[in-house]
Amino acid sequence: MLKPVQPSRRTFLVGAGRFAAASALASVVPFPAAAEATGHRVEASALKDLAKAVQGGVVLPDDPFFGDYARPNNLRFRTLPTAIARCASDQDVQACVAWVRKHGARFAVRSGGHNYAGFSTTPGLLIDMTPMSSIAALPGGDGLVKVGGGALNGMVYQALERLNRTITHGRCTTVGAAGFLLGGGIGFNMRMYGMGSDLLQATSIVTADGALHADIQDGGADRDLFWACRGGAGGNFGINTSFTLRTFPVETVTFFDITWTTDVDEVLYTLLTRLAEAPPEFGSKISVTKPPRGSVGQTLTISLLGQLHKCSTTVEAIIGPVLEKASKKTISPDMPYWPAQDLLSEFTYPYFYQEKSSYMKAAAITPDAVANMVRLARRMPGTSMANAFKFFQVGGQVNATPADATAYVHRGYDWLFSSEVNWWDRKDPRTLVDENLAWQERFYADVNKATKAVGAFQNFPDPSLKDWSTAYYGGNYAKLRRVKTAYDKTDLFTYRQGIKPL
Ligand SMILES: Cc1cc2nc3c(=O)[nH]c(=O)nc-3n(C[C@H](O)[C@H](O)[C@H](O)COP(=O)(O)OP(=O)(O)OC[C@H]3O[C@@H](n4cnc5c(N)ncnc54)[C@H](O)[C@@H]3O)c2cc1C
Repeated sequence: MLKPVQPSRRTFLVGAGRFAAASALASVVPFPAAAEATGHRVEASALKDLAKAVQGGVVLPDDPFFGDYARPNNLRFRTLPTAIARCASDQDVQACVAWVRKHGARFAVRSGGHNYAGFSTTPGLLIDMTPMSSIAALPGGDGLVKVGGGALNGMVYQALERLNRTITHGRCTTVGAAGFLLGGGIGFNMRMYGMGSDLLQATSIVTADGALHADIQDGGADRDLFWACRGGAGGNFGINTSFTLRTFPVETVTFFDITWTTDVDEVLYTLLTRLAEAPPEFGSKISVTKPPRGSVGQTLTISLLGQLHKCSTTVEAIIGPVLEKASKKTISPDMPYWPAQDLLSEFTYPYFYQEKSSYMKAAAITPDAVANMVRLARRMPGTSMANAFKFFQVGGQVNATPADATAYVHRGYDWLFSSEVNWWDRKDPRTLVDENLAWQERFYADVNKATKAVGAFQNFPDPSLKDWSTAYYGGNYAKLRRVKTAYDKTDLFTYRQGIKPL
């Protein structure tokens, strides 16, 4: 069994044995969320009960590590919780669910904390899954790997590297596997293997009634719940404590990182239409980046980043003559898989951002639509940070699964488009941020109209999206609501854009 390094586990209140520390609490611990939700305060004794039941520990605000555990990736949503339960086992998770039900307390579940819209932040109890980070190859040699419900992607990569296997994985090492898998999961391998959620063979989940549904899978008694866990997004149906995934043997790849600074319209149009014809072994992301405000030249830069698995063609042939216009290019054939991923992965520090996404078909993209996109992007007011609009290449195996076969509905497209606004609150005045957000709304609407783009990626949740249920789940929303009703009729697991029971 491979067990990656666990994050630091400093706790103030820990389970049985060190419970004495709990007596240091005042007799009534303010619990504003519970007070707001139910009109009462949670007694300190209730938190002591929780600390007794949760073997992974309960962290309180006076712990020096509290701020680290509490900080989400998007600093717009840095609400501090009242307490943090660090779940180390299925039983800890069940204890938390029983406790929040009993006390009517508000709560949120967190793995990597990278939710764009703050849906894993709460002023109540933060249920932190990160201690559940074990990763094990299952016996039998058929490449199944079981990942703990709180593992971070970087830990999964380390374990897979040792096993010489891989999955469809994202770029950011600190994203949680739970959020990544439950909301779909995109990455450079998806055109070869399908979405991350397509690789899910089984999952264990604690539902609102506190029951553990262990290793639910296709065709079993909980098949609809399993269906919902493959793209129905985290935080909706319960707390997933493990994920069993299909994996694939690693092989060498061609890594590429290519930049263009001239002929932006023509290059972007060519890439968006030509690359869509590439074989499924080709995985790429196009970014069009606007430098920080005040940068010399203020030029838009196009970057194409990705990898090509072994196949009968080359990166040069796929990209074609537009490669000659590149200002910088790295194309490295025959790279061992994991060192190539080191170049493709990213580590992001928390900051402030808003992202909007939609799905496009290459056939609907015209030179005029691209020229308009570029013109509008040049007019973005900008912030102290670089900002980009991006195209994640979907297609290939992503489209081989019918839209209703799993909860992940977005099949049949070539590109997942996304526009980001990034800022830093100390450097960018609120008025400037608002100008950028207003620009983003116009840009998003114009781009969608011109390219007939639709929907939105549930793993890039957008708090300003109005018709979010159709955008994230399309025709699958009705079934998702039925599953929600069957397993969480009282909407215990709730958030602003959460799936609602019937
Ligand atoms: C810098 C950055 C890079 C990214 N790169 C990629 C990428 O390459 N590919 C990609 O597909 N996505 C990417 N994403 C998006 C990311 O996959 C989603 O935001 C994902 O949902 C985050 O998961 P998390 O566990 O880190 O977040 P969290 O905020 O912890 O959780 C996300 C949601 O799931 C719920 N949840 C958390 N743990 C559990 C659990 N164990 N059981 C049930 N519900 C749970 C939370 O309550 C929340 O609603 C990126 C995001 C960021 C910020």
